[in-house]
Amino acid sequence: MILFENARLWNGLDEAEPGMSVLVEGETIREVGRTIASAAAQHVDLGGRTLMPGLIDAHVHLVASSTNLAANALLPDAVVAFRAGKLMREMLMRGFTTVRDLGGATLGLKLAWEEGLIEGPRMSLCGKALSQTGGHADLRPRLDARDYGFFESRLGSLGRIADGVDAVRRACREEIRAGADYIKLMANGGVASPSDPIAFLGYSESELRAAVEEASMAQTYVAAHLYTDDGIARAVRCGIRSLEHCNLITVETARAAAEAGCIACPTLVTYQALKEEGASLGLGPESVAKIDDVRLAGLESLEKMRSAGLTMAFGTDLLGPMHRRQSEEFTIRGQVLPAAEVLRSATVHAAKLLRQEGRIGCIAPGAWADMIVVDGDPLADLSLLTGQGRHLAAIMQGGRFVKNELA
Ligand code: ZN
Ligand code: ZN
Repeated sequence: MILFENARLWNGLDEAEPGMSVLVEGETIREVGRTIASAAAQHVDLGGRTLMPGLIDAHVHLVASSTNLAANALLPDAVVAFRAGKLMREMLMRGFTTVRDLGGATLGLKLAWEEGLIEGPRMSLCGKALSQTGGHADLRPRLDARDYGFFESRLGSLGRIADGVDAVRRACREEIRAGADYIKLMANGGVASPSDPIAFLGYSESELRAAVEEASMAQTYVAAHLYTDDGIARAVRCGIRSLEHCNLITVETARAAAEAGCIACPTLVTYQALKEEGASLGLGPESVAKIDDVRLAGLESLEKMRSAGLTMAFGTDLLGPMHRRQSEEFTIRGQVLPAAEVLRSATVHAAKLLRQEGRIGCIAPGAWADMIVVDGDPLADLSLLTGQGRHLAAIMQGGRFVKNELA
């Protein structure tokens, strides 16, 4: 057992609470309080440092080690897996103790993590993201007439193609059978794909509804890649719960989404990173031309969603070497949102999106002992979470220190 004492505890509220103690037993938290007596526990004096839940990034692609996703799909599977392990460890050392993968990661990676072969965040997976032909996961250049099976059998492919209600149902069932925790659909055009302008809608309503029915039959939900307001409104109407990106949303649609119980997952840092580094890292010219279609509306979309009462989770969606910018999403959001709200997006709100409330994103009896110790007050300065974990004195995951510089 480990007893943290003299902690400034931030646990999802607007303020942190000084002088708090947290008792960890095994992999979970046993007790939280002002004074906890435990002679058996190892006492750790935090000296007034901030203790908060481990961070959750609710939109990553663990297998996207290259910026050019078509090139990524053609990498040998073993290279993809080892690179994913490296990305996972780097995320953990930034304080992310849980991530949700939105396309690419497999049950195999999760099993390797459970075996302790790789260190990294806990994972919530969708397997491969579903896309229609010519949609956001169809990475073939226009003049490439190869059958898509060429890509989609590979670990480095983030998605697969399924056209028509029956094929969508079958793809959902296959992903769920293979260990998907939820289903991901590409329901709008995208930046990193060559033949789908942002305004394109992906999938017919009957295909979207079929996926939602399949997911609900398996006690889970659908997440969809979305930018445009009509795309988002349609997704909400069809029962999609997790709304990715949402850059071009209106207040009216955000209100409808909030009423339907949806959660949005903006990913602003990736557009900033693509703008600054995408072209030099191999992003195709068709993609570079589309970045500002969504980037420029980013901060405004956060204000609209907040005013409409739509819950937002923290996401990043970075590719290749740009992953090092993961924690910049905190400071970008901090430009328009209160710091406590930004921190909630990466803890309680993300936990709700992953349907793991009470287990992650909070410091409470019965939750996984996933916590970070911050040197300073992130409510006053969100940049303390940037710098590759430099300001994190300790990172604990499942009751085990993966970093400990407290001594
Ligand atoms: Zn997307
Ligand atoms: Zn994504």
